[in-house]
Amino acid sequence: MLRTTIFALSLALAQAATPPPSTLGPPTRADLLRGQYGRYRANNDLLFYHLDVRVDPEKKSITGKNTIRFRMLADDTRIQLDLAANLNIDRILLGSTPLKYERDLGTVYVDFPSTLRSGREYTIEFHYSGQPKEQGRFGGMAFRKDAAGNHWITTACEDDGASVWWPNKDQWRDEVERMQISVSIPNDLVDVSNGHFMGKTDLGDGYTRWDWLVQYPINNYNVALNIGRYEHFSDTLGDLPLDFYVLPANMEKARKQFAQAKPMLEAFRSYFGEYPFEKDGFKLIEVPYAGMEHQSAVAYGNGFVNGYLNRDWTGIGTSLKFDFIIVHESAHEWFGNAVSAADVSDMWIHEGWTTYLESLYVEKLFGHDEAIRYVNSYKPKVLNREPIITQRGIHRQPQQDMYFKGTLFLNTLRSVVNDDTVWWSVVREFYQQFKYQNIMTEDVVRFFNARLKKDLTPVFDQYLRRAALPTLQRAFTETGSMAYKWKTDERAFAMPVRIGRPNAWMTIEPTTDWKIMPMPLSKEEVEVATDLYYISVETQ
Ligand SMILES: [Zn+2]
Repeated sequence: MLRTTIFALSLALAQAATPPPSTLGPPTRADLLRGQYGRYRANNDLLFYHLDVRVDPEKKSITGKNTIRFRMLADDTRIQLDLAANLNIDRILLGSTPLKYERDLGTVYVDFPSTLRSGREYTIEFHYSGQPKEQGRFGGMAFRKDAAGNHWITTACEDDGASVWWPNKDQWRDEVERMQISVSIPNDLVDVSNGHFMGKTDLGDGYTRWDWLVQYPINNYNVALNIGRYEHFSDTLGDLPLDFYVLPANMEKARKQFAQAKPMLEAFRSYFGEYPFEKDGFKLIEVPYAGMEHQSAVAYGNGFVNGYLNRDWTGIGTSLKFDFIIVHESAHEWFGNAVSAADVSDMWIHEGWTTYLESLYVEKLFGHDEAIRYVNSYKPKVLNREPIITQRGIHRQPQQDMYFKGTLFLNTLRSVVNDDTVWWSVVREFYQQFKYQNIMTEDVVRFFNARLKKDLTPVFDQYLRRAALPTLQRAFTETGSMAYKWKTDERAFAMPVRIGRPNAWMTIEPTTDWKIMPMPLSKEEVEVATDLYYISVETQ
């Protein structure tokens, strides 16, 4: 996702003087209710949603139901779901039996008349209605008009959660395996949602139902409605269907700009493997906000120009060579949508990796040197004020360092590996091992440690769980030697780093204790490869 809200990445934020809110303050009760994966969430495993809604653009309302199929993992009589407090619960049914429920802010506890048994599957229908409250920069669910005065209704709710417009188990750990999305709208409008388009049915009352089938696990916040007077054009990349939906006035511009989808998809699949949602196809859909990685239905609002809203986002000229939103949001199909974090605390797995994939795209198209410049151009956006990983179990977005410092850290890791053949195979295996899973940073660290046969835990911890950068301290003596060590919060931190001359780097292996080596060069002559390792350097 790309944000300009107070929470994370944005052009506005990177340029703003006001610091983002701390991720270290006390949680609200709503943060805890949403963030904790307690007994009534953990006692079940989601299997399938069928979200079937009718959207009334004039009344700015939504009404319908989510049919939720789940398997119990423990005997229990209650499960925990979520729906924004301002929306009505019309009824919750198990078969034809109405179920009792209790609401607490956005939480809905559903109670069953008899014990649900571990291992068995159950299906409930959650009927609801109301007017979703527009919230967050991208609107949650926003009822807008396009320039021609036609209805244009979109959803984007990663911050606030999908329960701002539909009932679900609103957390990151548990995803449904598949999902059907049925959207009934006035006949003159088009709905584009996630997955494979199954067809539309005229309901005979001025409304048409559009049916979509998602054939892979999907995060709640990725589920999207895009309702407007869309026009459609299509293409293919091998067997992969490419579908593009834009407002009529933009057809010509879109045909030109969306040609970038192919080199983007080709670049990422060359690094990681096939596009992960092939059966669902790949779509770009014009929206009235910057963009969002909605799975297989990427929301696009970059105005059909390169850079980020036609600006040189990284300040080195490279950004203007490609459409930032097409590349960033689509890269999330690999990291964020296929490989997903199991808790928002570890969202760097989405944003750090995706921002790194931007640089891999640059490397593929424009070469290694430009990619290194691109990665390093993100340094001014790093704050180093709070750790990238926030506390688990409190629903709170990490600060923007998850994007830029996350990327610079991955580039550092590549330099630690110092063998690109190994690096490319490791990152590909990492992706392949964890695609369609929800993981935590511990899984990432365990994988890299095992694969590289090296204990990099203190390195991951310093970059992700501490605010400060590692500092290489150097002291030159008059007797022709250099003392060096790392200054870090992690006592066990040990990371090789390259020093010397740019065309003749030598690798040293500092730890947090002083080491001394002969050094015939003066301190002015001994450079440190700070484009390859994101560190600070102190020299005495
Ligand atoms: Zn993103």
